[in-house]
Amino acid sequence: MSEINKTEAVVLSKIDFGDTSNIISIFTKDFGKISAIIKGVKKNRNGKGGIIDPPNYLQIIFYNKSSRDVQLITGAEIVAHYPKIKQDLEKLKFSYAVLELLKKIMPEHEPNHKIFRGTVRVMELLEKGEEASAQIFGRFYMFFLKESGYEIQIDKCSSCGKVIKSSDNLSYNFESGILCGDCGQGYPQSFVISMELFNYLKSLKTNQKINNPGKNVTDLSLLFMEKFTKYHIPGFQGIQTFQILR
Ligand SMILES: [Zn+2]
Repeated sequence: MSEINKTEAVVLSKIDFGDTSNIISIFTKDFGKISAIIKGVKKNRNGKGGIIDPPNYLQIIFYNKSSRDVQLITGAEIVAHYPKIKQDLEKLKFSYAVLELLKKIMPEHEPNHKIFRGTVRVMELLEKGEEASAQIFGRFYMFFLKESGYEIQIDKCSSCGKVIKSSDNLSYNFESGILCGDCGQGYPQSFVISMELFNYLKSLKTNQKINNPGKNVTDLSLLFMEKFTKYHIPGFQGIQTFQILR
């Protein structure tokens, strides 16, 4: 049995299928992540891209058949297509990193309205560009890990339970968590958490304003979150987009 559904979707990736069809991976609001075929898409000769390019936000109509791996889209309309993201390599890089996290980490067919709203929101923020793209992405990454069940705890020492304050000698052990200076010596250190990095991570997590962080701390925070994800999610091998678009 197949049924007709209407939902909102963000395009994660697109591949050509034959001359006029595409297979796309989409994160939908009501059905989670799915693969779908869309037929009869005209090739765009002027290179301006089409309706189903990532990271477009669409309203779609599709036939859902649970026995099928690839669903059939019969109608798609653009809700937002983010022209500024597509013209700016830095914005594009971080928007693709968002799509990559969704593609690699979200389970299929599991809707999550909070993560869906967060995804649409992060694209809007990258498009507006009121804050550096790396920070906008960092906030999303923290939120995404939390909502996926892998929250990075940095409030209390994972060994003695003391409230962590910004200070020297903080460290992070991927098995146990953040460690105060006193406890850190007893554990193998996975990552040194400088005061600057701690403050930055905390601001990302609590969504507070960040005043001119150095590129160094921004890079370190992304490296830290990437390593954390690799440690906790089997099969995750890092964010490829960052290796391609440096
Ligand atoms: Zn401690």
